[in-house]
Amino acid sequence: ANGSKRTYSIFNDAVAETENTAEPYKYKNFINGEWRESKATEWIDVRNPATNEVVARVPCSTQEEMEEAVESAKTAFQTWKKTSVMHRQRILFELANLIRTHMHDVAKLITREQGKTLADADGDVLRGLQVVEYATGVPTQLVGGTLGQVAADMDTYMYRQPLGVTAGISPFNFPAMIPLWMFPMAMATGNTSVMKCSERDPGAAMALVELARQAGVPPGVVNVIHGTKNAVDFICTNPDIKAISFVGSDHVGKHIYELGCKHGKRVQSNMGAKNHGVIMPDANKEYTLNQLVGAAFGAAGQRCMALSTAVFVGESKAWMPEIMERAKKLKVSAGKEPNTDVGPVISPEAQKRIEGLIQSAIDEGAEVILDGRGVSVNGYEKGNFIGPTIITNVKPHMRCYKEEIFGPVMVCMEVDTLDDAIELVNANMYGNGTAIFTNNGATARKYQMESECGQIGINVPIPVPLPMFSFTGNKGSIRGDLNFYGKAGIDFLTQQKTITSLWRQEDADNDISATNFPK
Ligand code: NAD
Repeated sequence: ANGSKRTYSIFNDAVAETENTAEPYKYKNFINGEWRESKATEWIDVRNPATNEVVARVPCSTQEEMEEAVESAKTAFQTWKKTSVMHRQRILFELANLIRTHMHDVAKLITREQGKTLADADGDVLRGLQVVEYATGVPTQLVGGTLGQVAADMDTYMYRQPLGVTAGISPFNFPAMIPLWMFPMAMATGNTSVMKCSERDPGAAMALVELARQAGVPPGVVNVIHGTKNAVDFICTNPDIKAISFVGSDHVGKHIYELGCKHGKRVQSNMGAKNHGVIMPDANKEYTLNQLVGAAFGAAGQRCMALSTAVFVGESKAWMPEIMERAKKLKVSAGKEPNTDVGPVISPEAQKRIEGLIQSAIDEGAEVILDGRGVSVNGYEKGNFIGPTIITNVKPHMRCYKEEIFGPVMVCMEVDTLDDAIELVNANMYGNGTAIFTNNGATARKYQMESECGQIGINVPIPVPLPMFSFTGNKGSIRGDLNFYGKAGIDFLTQQKTITSLWRQEDADNDISATNFPK
């Protein structure tokens, strides 16, 4: 009924379900272990992409609130860094347990604010949970090293220490997974953090931070502020923040890398992508076509590892019409509707931008063999929908190839040989991921060795590594030299300290203790 507000009990003050309410829920800052209402004068609407209804509002946190968050993280660091690593591990076990228990509730929040299907939203939480589970291994991951006898009676040993206050800035497309790449790893390594999640769909991250509170994370160890450029620039310039983890678009990522580095911080910045799937004529056709369709149109193409460019080598180009047949069958609807394959894109602006790129392809001489523009979805007429779209005859100079589309659009190119495919893929400025489909081991191996992309799938369309490895995008897809999670993630979040010690045998022989404690 109007005016009623049903709060997800498990998420307490962090997030509330507000369908049918007069006043959308106002997200809060999380500072020093408390959900605090913001005194912001500027608020941003969070809309359900399937309906464009306002489901919540996000504050642009005030300068004072942002400073309080950093202050609380700075104070908490003084005690958190001294907690035993086993204690931190136990809290992470509890957090992992709570996330697993409440996974579907978090997924529902994702579908409501981000638009993806409930199955994709479950996957979003699961992939983040795997990073939390990896972080529970932190006692082993933090083990340092020792070299005895670097000189007479002298040893050198190294251990890893936390940096202090770290910050995480995340994008809209994986609202659970990407925040979970950030604050749990920071916590595990003894750092404290200030998170600034995407203002377009912060609900999942708010729920996860609330679960962290319930798991026993002490006040100040994780904090949340909100906003866009203002909050980001605050983070990049605040002298108490030692490291920034960013995932998002190119122009923002470069800005954060430059400004953060200028202010003496470590920055890891994961940015845009254009991922190619190379299709050899000897591949298993049925399998390959199904994988291509899922990887190009799943999550409405809003994945940084979406396989958005299909490169047909030689005779495999004959398979294009069959891809179209499969793509046509995908169900476009709201993510919460059963059997939906393709949900809405994030905003009307994104829809307009994607439709503009499709039009630019036509204008530049490519052919649109499946056009998803103007798709109408029963019951969701106001949503930001684009149906699966396939563009063929694409050439490298075209805008639809040069720019990241980030929508349910597959761009198709043709080359004669594997060498041509490698040359094409390597000429692209991005290097996040790529896949090759083949039944020939030598072909696969050549591609794996010569492709400049950082994450390569062999008959695997979206080769995102599990967290015992790292997310290893390359070239224009990353700034910074230490990747997210895995061993590189531990390196990013810790500084090595080496001790060189000398305990002279001579002093032992003289038996100094004997003078103090006569036998
Ligand atoms: P975005 O850059 O618009 O937003 C990311 C963050 O930056 C948000 O928290 C946002 O508030 C902030 N921001 C937005 N505009 C800003 C500005 N002008 N100044 C400072 N901060 C600003 O990205 P998005 O649209 O949310 O996410 C999609 C992009 O993220 C795509 O390009 C995608 O490829 C990329 N992405 C990359 C990876 C990866 O690991 N390489 C993973 C997921 C997404």
